[in-house]
Amino acid sequence: SFFLGRVEKLNPKLNAFIAMNDKALEEAKKVDERISKGEAVGPLAGVSFGIKDLLCTRNLRTTAASKILSNFVPPYDATVVARLKSAGAIVLGKLNLDEFAMGSSNETSFFGKCYNPWNTDYVPGGSSGGSAAAQSARLTMGTIGTDTGGSIRQPANFCGIVGIKPTYGRVSRYGIVAYASSLDQAGPMVSSVADAALALEVISGHDEKDSTTSTQKVPEFSKSLTTNVKGMKIGIVKEYQSGEIHPDIAKTTERAIEELKKAGAEIVEVSIPLTQFAVPMYYLIAASEASSNLARYDGVKYGYRSDFQDLSSLSLEDFYSQTRAEGFGKEVKRRIMLGTYCLSSGYYDAYYNKACQVRRLLREQYIETFKNCDALLSPVTTSPAFKVGERSSDPLKMYLNDIFTTATNLAGLPGLSVPYGMSSEGMPIGVQLTGAHFQEQKILNIAAALE
Ligand code: GLN
Repeated sequence: SFFLGRVEKLNPKLNAFIAMNDKALEEAKKVDERISKGEAVGPLAGVSFGIKDLLCTRNLRTTAASKILSNFVPPYDATVVARLKSAGAIVLGKLNLDEFAMGSSNETSFFGKCYNPWNTDYVPGGSSGGSAAAQSARLTMGTIGTDTGGSIRQPANFCGIVGIKPTYGRVSRYGIVAYASSLDQAGPMVSSVADAALALEVISGHDEKDSTTSTQKVPEFSKSLTTNVKGMKIGIVKEYQSGEIHPDIAKTTERAIEELKKAGAEIVEVSIPLTQFAVPMYYLIAASEASSNLARYDGVKYGYRSDFQDLSSLSLEDFYSQTRAEGFGKEVKRRIMLGTYCLSSGYYDAYYNKACQVRRLLREQYIETFKNCDALLSPVTTSPAFKVGERSSDPLKMYLNDIFTTATNLAGLPGLSVPYGMSSEGMPIGVQLTGAHFQEQKILNIAAALE
């Protein structure tokens, strides 16, 4: 009830939660009763979680922040949600996001913008802006976000919390509204590295409902967590040092490097040349997959359908197009068009296939790099949180915001953002750690050393 009270007081200003679970208190009481009876409860017993509204929650509306799903109540839980619940967690409500997780500022939601609790003139980042804002304003004990090209790490960075995107295949995508299936991963957005380790442990692992999940054993991240980084080799990506980086961000990263050196880590410069092309590669692949994934929203089986007066004189094509024209927002339409173009005959080889080929080479460059170092340290973004409205009319500028985060998803690597500084405007700044495949423990430990 403490968190429900905070939601009531602060959510009208932040618009982080777009739906509440009205059974949350009842469910929490049940956990209390089980505890008092001495029954076994999970590691997250009674812990409240806000869930990005991209993950299906049984009997609780799931919208992807889109009009087209605004009436969708799933009959099942996403695996991530089911695992949280069996660990004893309580779903507090559903969190705002950019429509279909497409965006970097949480300004494209059908349910209105979400605001940064540090200063409501600023965006919370995106697409998991609601998760970051709710966590940072202490509206809940934990949240879940998803990350296709930075959507966990970037908002965590803008709101001063910890966010980890696991290795592709570590966490099941079953029941998560698909954006770009070869890039999407869900992960915790919480207040400390220890919380991230525990929550990640709970949601990870093979799932027979998602064939892309790995069968690798899930390590006990929370038990193995240490701040000892002595002897670890941490790489600084040469290509990330050129280009425009806000001086406060550069200073924060420098400070982190110094602290890790003092703690006994070795800092090495590494080169991953193809990271330079991460943004164009990402936007081609993500838009292509999105155009295909979003083809299912046709107004027939579920979701929004245009209010047709007379179906008898309507062609099927008009039925689809009117429903989709009304149901999707501008940014989503832009991406569907971009993706459809990339996948169309004549352009497929030049765009989509080319991007996939370069993506494989990028992955190889990372694998080579990790033969010589344990993790990479970099900024999360080139600048701290920007103001609401500042970039919304310039999609290219918005896309370029993802310059340090997208390569991680393209290569399927784990990535983490941990708060480490403050901008001169008083907004939080984090640093990013990227690990080799399935080496979440290493980046959690380095983050713990910086915390
Ligand atoms: N900002 C990126 C995009 O708009 C990333 C989004 C995400 O990770 N879901 O696609």
